[in-house]
Amino acid sequence: MQNKNKIKRLVKNNCAGYLGTKHGISNYCCLQDGPCVFFAQDDGLSRCTYFENGVLPMDEKLEREYKSERNVKTEPKTAQPRVNCQKCKATFSANSNRQKYCEKCKDKNANEKSKLRMRQMRKKQA
Ligand SMILES: [Zn+2]
Repeated sequence: MQNKNKIKRLVKNNCAGYLGTKHGISNYCCLQDGPCVFFAQDDGLSRCTYFENGVLPMDEKLEREYKSERNVKTEPKTAQPRVNCQKCKATFSANSNRQKYCEKCKDKNANEKSKLRMRQMRKKQA
């Protein structure tokens, strides 16, 4: 399994519990007091809470794959309402319910507004 190798690499490089070979046990994990679950021979979908909380978030992509493989339910970090942009109709996640335009159109809108303001100012001067 491809992800398993990525997980192993992450464990080796970043997991505080992973101590390499110790007490004659290879891939020794001090939290398990035995071999790291991710280095087990069987190809089961092992899980380790310490790894999930402390190591896995370093690799966002792997975290997604890990969690979907294992059906780990995660709460979305922030509940962002999905909104259709009033200008380009693209769906985007708004930061608030009042946001009507996507980031792109928001910028454009701001530009057009300032252009309009400039035009009005020029009219007054004329
Ligand atoms: Zn838009």
